[in-house]
Amino acid sequence: MKEARKICVIGTGYVGLVTGACFADLGNRVTCVDTDAGRIASLRAGKMPFYEPSLAELVERNSVSGRLAFSTSYEEGVAGASFIFLCLPTPPGPNGAADTSILRSAIRRLAEVIYEPCPIIVNKSTALVGTCEALRELLADEDAALESVPVVSNPEFLREGSAIRDFMRPDRVVVGADEDEAGARVRELYEPLGAPMLIADTRTAEMVKYASNAFLAAKISFINEVANICERMDADSSLVGEGMGLDRRIGGSFLRPGVGYGGSCFPKDVLALSHMASENGVEPRLLEAVMEVNSSQVERVMQKLWDHLGYLEGAVVAVWGIAFKPDTDDIREALAMKIIDSLEREGVAVRAYDPVAMKKAAVQLPRTAMCQNPYEATERADAVLLLTEWDEFGTLDLARVAATMNIPMLLDGRNAIAPAKAREAGFHYVGVGRGESVVYHLRIPGEQRPGSATSPSREGSDA
Ligand code: NAD
Repeated sequence: MKEARKICVIGTGYVGLVTGACFADLGNRVTCVDTDAGRIASLRAGKMPFYEPSLAELVERNSVSGRLAFSTSYEEGVAGASFIFLCLPTPPGPNGAADTSILRSAIRRLAEVIYEPCPIIVNKSTALVGTCEALRELLADEDAALESVPVVSNPEFLREGSAIRDFMRPDRVVVGADEDEAGARVRELYEPLGAPMLIADTRTAEMVKYASNAFLAAKISFINEVANICERMDADSSLVGEGMGLDRRIGGSFLRPGVGYGGSCFPKDVLALSHMASENGVEPRLLEAVMEVNSSQVERVMQKLWDHLGYLEGAVVAVWGIAFKPDTDDIREALAMKIIDSLEREGVAVRAYDPVAMKKAAVQLPRTAMCQNPYEATERADAVLLLTEWDEFGTLDLARVAATMNIPMLLDGRNAIAPAKAREAGFHYVGVGRGESVVYHLRIPGEQRPGSATSPSREGSDA
């Protein structure tokens, strides 16, 4: 019988842990290494560092079988490994470019512990075009004996919330290698998945990742701009997106109007690509517009709320959903976090509920009241904002919610609830680009609200 391959995965975040657990499930022996000792101790105890459906079961199954191990030691992880996967953060630097300092520090550390026979280093982190070449040079600078160690690009396309399915049944696998043999060996690892594979040089593979994320972000900003036009033209942007998506040339995904894109990837990747373009003499006009439309969506939510309530200061607003999308507790660059922050700056008391992200969110939102369930959040509230389309929000007793609110206004930032259903339950419903005409100031005439009744900064708005 063929001996199982040994793989080392550096970084046990969303990408690293899923990669490690899935490769182990495919029959490889995997050691996941992380510098966060607390995280490694928890993983050894079977506790996941974040919420991802089915991940705990997958980790447990493979840990018990002895195929998956966790360590804080690079030396232990690398010993005997034929492949070292880098799954490390590449946050935006001060100028918007992807910061590769963590990748570089990992390479320096690896240079101290890699011995013959040399493994292949595979970078899964999203990093600037030319990063694999730069990491390879750095490795050789650290130790000339490692000059021949290949650094292959293998960008990751998994989505949080469906990460295991995306890894195991990917639309495609992209392998970028500057030597055929290294590329072929990485390709072999993925053969059991039976997925289409694109084999390219490292620079092209790195660009595929940025171009893909920027394109998906562009689809979102496109439909959001269409939604803004729909609002003026009395058309339903959700149906427009659906109608467009039925055209196979266009495709239906990422055409749902909403408050915009967030998360740990799209915002930073569009920014990094735009920065890379400018730095290299290309004016990124489309990318700039994609980012501009996205950031204006938050302001539009605030504006709509003000237009419909007539005041913000002193209002009590419920927020349903904090995570940047359903089925994850990731709040990095979540638009709900930005909207809650903007509301609180305007003097709004926010009562929030999210099925899994509240613990993480509470650390950054000390003023927000975190509620046990969606009903508690809306009690006596002046409006509710639906910002993450968790399934459970689609099955709520809306009449019960509306009955306990001070003003039954639903601002559906994801067009997740049918307007007719909400209106039937007694709500004043406002979606994104759903053609509803603006009803100014739902407040009952003569009723005194705490704080100022108008927001001077918002007077004269035309939204
Ligand atoms: P993450 O922040 O969830 O995890 C990173 C992990 O690396 C953490 O556990 C951290 O402790 C560890 N770490 C930091 N420095 C280390 C070091 N020097 N040595 C060992 N471990 C170290 O990150 P992520 O979301 O998994 O993203 C990793 C990369 O993959 C990024 O470049 C990201 O853009 C890209 N990516 C992410 C996703 C996603 O959905 N999260 C999807 C595709 C690609």
